[in-house]
Amino acid sequence: MFNKTKIIATVGPASNSKENIKTLIESGVDVFRLNFSHGEHEDHLKVINYILEANEEMNTHVGILADLQGPKIRLGIVENDSIELITGSEILITRHKKESTAQELYITYEPLAQDIREGNRILIDDGKVELRVIATNSIDQVRAKVMHGGILSSKKGVNLPDTNISAASLTPKDIRDLEFILTQKIDWIALSFVRSPNDMIHLRGIMTFKNNTITKIIAKIERPEAVENIEAIIREADAIMVARGDLGVEIPVEKVPLVQKDIVAKCIAYAKPVIIATQMMESMIEKTLPMRAEVTDVANAILDGADAIMLSGETAMGKHPPLVVKTMTRIAKEMEEKGNIYSKYHTYSNRKANTFVSDDVCSNACRIADEIDARAITGMTVSGYTAFMLACNRPKADIFIFTNRRENLSLFSLIWGVRTFFYDKFTTTDETMVDVAAILKEKGFVNPGDFIVMTASMPLHESGRTNTIRVKEMPRY
Ligand code: ATP
Ligand code: MG
Ligand code: MG
Repeated sequence: MFNKTKIIATVGPASNSKENIKTLIESGVDVFRLNFSHGEHEDHLKVINYILEANEEMNTHVGILADLQGPKIRLGIVENDSIELITGSEILITRHKKESTAQELYITYEPLAQDIREGNRILIDDGKVELRVIATNSIDQVRAKVMHGGILSSKKGVNLPDTNISAASLTPKDIRDLEFILTQKIDWIALSFVRSPNDMIHLRGIMTFKNNTITKIIAKIERPEAVENIEAIIREADAIMVARGDLGVEIPVEKVPLVQKDIVAKCIAYAKPVIIATQMMESMIEKTLPMRAEVTDVANAILDGADAIMLSGETAMGKHPPLVVKTMTRIAKEMEEKGNIYSKYHTYSNRKANTFVSDDVCSNACRIADEIDARAITGMTVSGYTAFMLACNRPKADIFIFTNRRENLSLFSLIWGVRTFFYDKFTTTDETMVDVAAILKEKGFVNPGDFIVMTASMPLHESGRTNTIRVKEMPRY
């Protein structure tokens, strides 16, 4: 009836009308991503309203993810729109704004000369051009040798994989974007170029100051330091994005596949949603059929158990946004029906955690569901903890979450396998369980004779964590 693996689509010129948004939702989008590297606030505002209206009209809970640019370094404007750097030549790099030439480049990173060291690489345009630092005056200028030359146009991205970046993860532009984002109904904020857990603590501090305790934080993994600090970052973040675009420039490309798989496995273990992003269906920006390698890449991410797979240029500026989403949906359906995804992750809960009892109840609810081949697992939650905890066991049964917090409806759209309903009648557990079964039956999610594994917190009035499992067999008549 629906995919367990969630699909995220970036909105851009190819998809930013209300009609397009609705068609993409019908095609299978669960979350829309707004990239604050591009576009003005007024453009994003329009898109946000289209998504909210579409949810209203279609009775869906599609989520919204706002992606902050972070300390992205770029080349400035280049002379005559194009310059050629010659392999073996020596060039100067300055932090003073001017037109770049083949002899002197302007790079938009103020502390460049202070942060960089002799021998560090400067990679431009996804690593197509490589420079190596000969010397720095530690004030405003760097001398470098062109190791791999090439043609460069304006505003290309620059990566400094060997350099300790002193700039904060939230730039002045990010702070301005954040001011806007926090006035809107945004479910997830993605922080780019995260290096340590402190980056999230800083962002969360600002959000708390603005009285926002609902919006959740995604750490984008695209710096070598983030890969090294991955466990601490996963613990601090609410979700993780494997941002393979910059990551594949910042670390050698051949390291990306195992880093991706390692991050997915760790996120599942920590019950944090994980997103695989960049170039998943890149060729479909132009073409109507994906490359076989792309299909296998998407399939592998699904088989590894990623919560969500993401589209960037494919839906932002591609020629066939709905077709790309439909193709992804079909791959997910096939893998989820026939692939080996489920229940590989039952782990024994950590006795020392203060959530130990509920962690263990959730994990065992999923174990029972697998053993009796249940159709559905249900959970009740205010904080959302139970939704994340049930999902991280990757059960075969569908997960239905009932919550009395409306904000949760679109927030949970990112979590693997989870479908969410609004429910605020909290009288007794018995009554709630009768209601929940009736709702699933009425919506056609369960049939006569199906098993439902229900979790709850008893007694209800204490609104504690999940501590109860009940197995219900739907009447056969
Ligand atoms: P990031 O590193 O954050 O992924 P990106 O430049 O790769 O940034 P994507 O969001 O991956 O951007 O989208 C791919 C392309 O789609 C962009 O390079 C841009 O050309 C286009 N795009 C995305 N969003 C917008 C937008 N809101 N307005 C205009 N173009 C956009
Ligand atoms: Mg980026
Ligand atoms: Mg991108």
